[in-house]
Amino acid sequence: MSLSPLDLGSVRTPVEVADRLSDAIGLGPGDLLVKRDDLLGPGGGGNKIRKLEWTCAEALAVGADTLVTSGAAQSNHARLTAAAGARLGLRVVLVLAGRPDDDAQGNLLLDALFGARVVWAGDVDAPGLRAAADLVLADLRSEGATPFLVPFGGSSPSSVRGYADAGAELAEQVPDVRHVVVALGSGGTMAGLVSTLGAERVLGIHCGAVPDPRSAVAGLLLDRPVARDSLRIRTDQVGTSYGDLAEPAWRAVLLAGRTEGLVLEPTYTGRALAGLVAAVRDGDVRRGERTVLVHTGGLPGLFGHHEARRRLRELARNGG
Ligand SMILES: *Cc1c(COP(=O)(O)O)cnc(C)c1O
Repeated sequence: MSLSPLDLGSVRTPVEVADRLSDAIGLGPGDLLVKRDDLLGPGGGGNKIRKLEWTCAEALAVGADTLVTSGAAQSNHARLTAAAGARLGLRVVLVLAGRPDDDAQGNLLLDALFGARVVWAGDVDAPGLRAAADLVLADLRSEGATPFLVPFGGSSPSSVRGYADAGAELAEQVPDVRHVVVALGSGGTMAGLVSTLGAERVLGIHCGAVPDPRSAVAGLLLDRPVARDSLRIRTDQVGTSYGDLAEPAWRAVLLAGRTEGLVLEPTYTGRALAGLVAAVRDGDVRRGERTVLVHTGGLPGLFGHHEARRRLRELARNGG
């Protein structure tokens, strides 16, 4: 079956010069550009929209009436699946790691706004989360529904095409791009970019969402033959764990806010910028080399992150 993507509001996103940030991290004028994929689609926006345009097309093609997906409590992917479901008139069930929270924040508030049902899976690992999602699918089927499972992080061989297209768009906008820096979560975004831009130009910053980021990305690559070992992946920005605040990522969040008025967050985009800072420091990215930081979104995650919220409150109390 040949599939074409739905229109969930993905657009040709702008690429903006970020000279003040460029200078602050040791690059030159015009070296650093930001691709604003945080501006994509409904639901507050973000990279998952480009992938959902493919997975939701698959869901509709098989006659689904309910989208089911899973993730962390503050999953941006879950939030955007909820928004996509609302737009398409599909029911959405989110299977999230953790427990009900009386003080829900960030993405969880938007999940509720979009009318998604949340099923809490407790303190589970990835296989446990998958098992909880399978139970939900079975329950829905027994109730007569036709559920469709959107994979973890929305990354599947078909949805990776959304980012292969984004890579082609970027190559048109910035033909001399030398480095494309992107947060690596479930891996589909990086895999798509590599499929059109080539492994040598894409630098993925592992955020700790999967145990083996190289296998995750390699397993999602499209037609283009890429040696697994040639994938450029930094694993030095995770810190203690996916959900914890890593100091370099927090410094990157502040730096982007204070040089460009850009909102990053500590889980993905803050780590991506921190990875770029580290790459400049160790000479992997050099002055004079055109570099694009992909802003993948995630703004609600800033307000859903307990420690980030605490630090922002402290800044606010001290007058900035
Ligand atoms: C999910 C996500 C990523 C990572 O994308 P993957 O395709 O899962 O690797 C990056 N940034 C943000 C803000 C995200 O929500």
